[in-house]
Amino acid sequence: MDNNRILTDFWNLLNITSDYLKTGDKEEHSGLTISTDSLEKIAEEISVCTKCKLCETRNKTVPGSGSVNPALMIIGEAPGADEDKSGLPFVGRAGQYMDKWMDAISLEREKHLFLTNIIKCRPPGNRDPHPDEMAACLPFLQRQINIIKPAIILSVGRISSQVLTGKNEGIGRLRGKVYKYRGASLIPTYHPSGVLRNPEEYRKPVWEDLKQVKVCLDNINLNE
Ligand code: SF4
Repeated sequence: MDNNRILTDFWNLLNITSDYLKTGDKEEHSGLTISTDSLEKIAEEISVCTKCKLCETRNKTVPGSGSVNPALMIIGEAPGADEDKSGLPFVGRAGQYMDKWMDAISLEREKHLFLTNIIKCRPPGNRDPHPDEMAACLPFLQRQINIIKPAIILSVGRISSQVLTGKNEGIGRLRGKVYKYRGASLIPTYHPSGVLRNPEEYRKPVWEDLKQVKVCLDNINLNE
């Protein structure tokens, strides 16, 4: 299936299935609607989720982890083998490499970041997630974003960047700009696993993107 078709199918699935857009429980208090949703509740729901067929092959679900009030939210595509084993995001070689990127802009994983993926269960053999799987899983991410309210999101890799920008272009064309997603500044860049495979080509643009993240962080600090 080509990329155009995958993204079109994905948006169609998302648009026609209103249940997918559920954004967590709410309660009425003296006429005010207060959300009772939480990251723990979302993680519990994910742990027993059977909304797509990835539940049949996963070992552990990977809801995401990190600070509840992060300076930066990082969103990748899907868990890999190490993440599927541990239940934690970005713990394999690519994740360790990404920790070095964060070091370079003075951000620490537990203190400054919330890390997650579009898809919370590993696709077998690390294949691309299918449109129906992304459509089924995206509401979990949207609820996480509603709670965390990140000011800046770094999307790593083609798939997460396409889903969050809504644009069906390669990551080479998507990166280098700042977009908006649910109130956050969204900065797309290459996935660390891609950079590990081809450092000569991708290291420099990633560094440019990280500098853009730093500019956004500095602007927020200036305005606080
Ligand atoms: S990938 Fe998402 S929608 Fe599919 S089973 Fe896992 S948590 Fe549920």
